[in-house]
Amino acid sequence: MARFALRLIEKIDETHDTKTFRFALNGHNLDFLPGHFIMANKMIDGKLVRRAYSISSSPLNKKSIDLTIKRVENGIFSNYMYDNANVGDSIDMDGPYGKFIYNDGSNGVVLISAGCGIAPLMSMARYIIEKGINVNVIMLHSCKTPNDMLFREEMLRIQENNENFKYIVTITRPTGFDWNGKTGRINEELLRSIIKGGERFFVSGRVEFGHSIVSMLRNLGVKDENIKEELF
Ligand SMILES: Cc1cc2nc3c(=O)[nH]c(=O)nc-3n(C[C@H](O)[C@H](O)[C@H](O)COP(=O)(O)OP(=O)(O)OC[C@H]3O[C@@H](n4cnc5c(N)ncnc54)[C@H](O)[C@@H]3O)c2cc1C
Repeated sequence: MARFALRLIEKIDETHDTKTFRFALNGHNLDFLPGHFIMANKMIDGKLVRRAYSISSSPLNKKSIDLTIKRVENGIFSNYMYDNANVGDSIDMDGPYGKFIYNDGSNGVVLISAGCGIAPLMSMARYIIEKGINVNVIMLHSCKTPNDMLFREEMLRIQENNENFKYIVTITRPTGFDWNGKTGRINEELLRSIIKGGERFFVSGRVEFGHSIVSMLRNLGVKDENIKEELF
């Protein structure tokens, strides 16, 4: 574990309530694996506020790291980042942390997320593609409306250029939107249709979401040793 201060170099709009904050590594060797998170620390209104954020960029990018942060209603740190953090500011961090990590391997991987839970899975997907690892990847993402889809253009582009990569998105509240794709929550039927056997599953999102996905995977015969969860 290391402590370091990184300079914010870009604030990138992803959706109406989610931005990616890009920090320069500036020669700092942050040795992390896809799926790791860091702790960000900031004095806000006289109090030290400390929050965990998954790294959404690939560890192969040695110039910068990305944190993809959702603005939480009345949330102290996320609102600080949206309203008060400016390009050029430094944020104290420590890490990397976590066991929710992808290690190179030949088994297929299924990356399952809801909302901002996609952040650590983006690091895994980008890493696998950039490193050219020969593994089947399914990126299964659930979100409320088409306006909440994160990284859709990039996912579609990767899918188009890599026959081993499949991107599936399902929208839970499609009413009122021009959406012809999958709708509804991720259910057993959908999971059954993508499981071939022997894959490793990475599940990331809110606690209730994670528990429901894991229980469906178990019902479908997936062994616990092949499931990793990051719930927040
Ligand atoms: C391993 C890990 C990885 C994570 N990765 C990400 C990520 O990639 N992206 C991301 O966006 N988040 C991520 N998170 C969540 C993140 O750490 C923060 O919890 C999140 O950003 C909210 O922090 P905040 O300071 O904005 O909100 P907080 O100030 O912590 O508030 C959270 C909620 O609690 C409510 N609340 C706060 N205080 C009270 C109170 N006294 N009474 C009642 N309600 C209260 C607020 O209104 C708000 O709705 C991760 C968490 C973990 C553990």
